[in-house]
Amino acid sequence: MNVKRLVRPNILSLSAYEAKEIPCKVKLDANESPYGFRAAATIMKSLQTNRYPDPEAKNLRRLISKEFGLSRENVLQGNGSDELIYYLITTFGGPVLYPVPTFSMYGIIAQALGEKRIAVPLDEKFDLDAKSILSSLRADRPKLIFLSSPNNPTGNCFSSEKMLKILDGAKSRSLIVVDEAYHPFAGNKGFIQHLCEYENLIIMKTLSKIGLAALRVGFLIAGEKIISEVNKVRLPFNINSCSQAMAAEVLRNRKAFRQVVRLIVSERKRLSRELLKTPGVRPYPSDANFILFRVDDPDRVYKGLLRRGVLVRNMRGVIDGCLRVTVGTRKENDVFLGALRGILKGDEGAL
Ligand code: PMP
Repeated sequence: MNVKRLVRPNILSLSAYEAKEIPCKVKLDANESPYGFRAAATIMKSLQTNRYPDPEAKNLRRLISKEFGLSRENVLQGNGSDELIYYLITTFGGPVLYPVPTFSMYGIIAQALGEKRIAVPLDEKFDLDAKSILSSLRADRPKLIFLSSPNNPTGNCFSSEKMLKILDGAKSRSLIVVDEAYHPFAGNKGFIQHLCEYENLIIMKTLSKIGLAALRVGFLIAGEKIISEVNKVRLPFNINSCSQAMAAEVLRNRKAFRQVVRLIVSERKRLSRELLKTPGVRPYPSDANFILFRVDDPDRVYKGLLRRGVLVRNMRGVIDGCLRVTVGTRKENDVFLGALRGILKGDEGAL
């Protein structure tokens, strides 16, 4: 049987999101936190495994909404923010506009759902080309615009003035999704403060980057009217009971994850300084938990690092000439720096 003959054309031409598991000693490729949280034994004991999870994740949504002074009706839960991107494009459709390079799932999901994609290149500083986006707003009338700020894989926040210009230009025509996956590391207020002014603003958040990637918990924060429409396409029990209970416990203990974020930010600053001092390496400024850097021969450096047990992300085909390293623990970052400097000096490393 030729299955391909049955597959929809937009799926046939799609490539699956690559999340290869490559064996390594130091894992710095996926923008995860190096610090996890342990579940309290009482949480696991109190789980009723024979019952479905709370379909509305009430407790979790209450905790999130409280954090931002909003109500539960302003929050929608997702099995990771990936799922929420799916729900948003399913609900509103396309065209879907996003700057490039950016997080690949906006384009992958738009294509999977057969929606038109509009990719607008970033400028030479990896900031938004507001002019081009605004003219596309008029010409192509995108339903959704995804802006990841800080942006993955470039690491920078976009200029807030440009984002506000786009929000103004899009009013009543397009929805702007500000993806704040990396916002905890940025040290600015973020865009939640603009929710009251802009009915077309949606904020997307995740717990994945602050130590809970295994749980798959993300959130949309927006006006009630938007949330209730997107909620119609949400699968009934999309967050399992373990994840709901554990995420709620961690959110209640804000001190612990604030401490983790502080550690990561101070390590990012140190790692940036060290990379700047390393001949042959050009790191880009970062507001996130990873750093994009340029080297002369990225494939050789990538392979050399892996030979020494250090896994980073090769950005070939996305930003040629660059690698992306996640900020790890101090020890992991030192292993990475030592390996990188060895490779650039010409040591071949153990095979
Ligand atoms: N947004 C951005 C910008 C990301 O980089 C990622 C993960 N790499 C996600 C969303 C998805 O996060 P999750 O599904 O784990 O919540």
